[in-house]
Amino acid sequence: MSRMIRAETIRKVREVVAHARAAGRLISFVPTMGALHAGHAALLGAARADGAFTVVSIFVNPTQFGPSEDFASYPRDAEGDLRLCKQHGVDLVFLPSATEMYPHAPLTSVSVDRLTRHLCGPHRPGHFAGVATVVLKLLNIVTPDVACFGQKDAQQLAVVRRMVADLDLPVRIAGVPTVREADGLAMSSRNRRLSAVDREQALCLVRALREAERMARDGVREVADIEARMREVVRAAGPSTIDYVSVVDCDELQPIDRIHGPALAALAVRIGATRLIDNLVIGPPPDPPAATGTRPTRTDREPS
Ligand code: AMP
Repeated sequence: MSRMIRAETIRKVREVVAHARAAGRLISFVPTMGALHAGHAALLGAARADGAFTVVSIFVNPTQFGPSEDFASYPRDAEGDLRLCKQHGVDLVFLPSATEMYPHAPLTSVSVDRLTRHLCGPHRPGHFAGVATVVLKLLNIVTPDVACFGQKDAQQLAVVRRMVADLDLPVRIAGVPTVREADGLAMSSRNRRLSAVDREQALCLVRALREAERMARDGVREVADIEARMREVVRAAGPSTIDYVSVVDCDELQPIDRIHGPALAALAVRIGATRLIDNLVIGPPPDPPAATGTRPTRTDREPS
């Protein structure tokens, strides 16, 4: 196996990628903010699936954090990250500095409307513009054939897909199901900051989502009832701040009153100083159910 290349500059990334492409390789890309875990590893697995030359970026992007958010305290672990990338056969790791990415204050940004009006959008003003802009920059730098994003950040995935469609970017976006700990907690770099007590309480997110899934399966159609129950489940776990608990349509992430087909149940909860998000597709499948019933129940479904 060839050795993993490490690049700190855009110029080097372009050189290495051009070389791989000239050798006939497809290029796959996984953008991350580091502090890598098994969720990221699943993205790496998807990226490498068809023998593509796999590029990972590790960049804690300052422009997607609000002034009172956790940019400074966001977990960083460059050594562990490089080790995990190497173990998973990554070909090129891009570790730019903030000045490499933003040599001067940018006057251009990409904003994706509508999809960002609910869920995390109102709670994190400017966040998705920061995300869309840095993802577009990274796609322009790496020029991948395919880029992998996690369903864990469902709104981010939707925003990136829509940006790629609206701007005719020549890249395929692959969504990867959420990877969870054995007890159901969605893996997240921010989990590293949870105390043992917080970690236990954090299970309320997946518990609320599974409760929503169960209610939808049992035929509850009123979203208000499902959201109310989800809030109860979160509150029962201990003191926290609920940013939102919401069931939205899977395509445009707009609030709905009743469940007709697949819907996205999502929530953001602050436990201590740590803000956690999670989501699950609930509700009946879009097509009439097959006689044999092949609907997935245990794995997370992708929004369409
Ligand atoms: P982050 O480093 O948190 O910005 O995440 C980088 C990528 O990994 C994003 O596309 C995330 O959606 C994805 N990701 C993070 N956690 C998970 C997880 N538990 N399962 C699947 N993908 C994830």
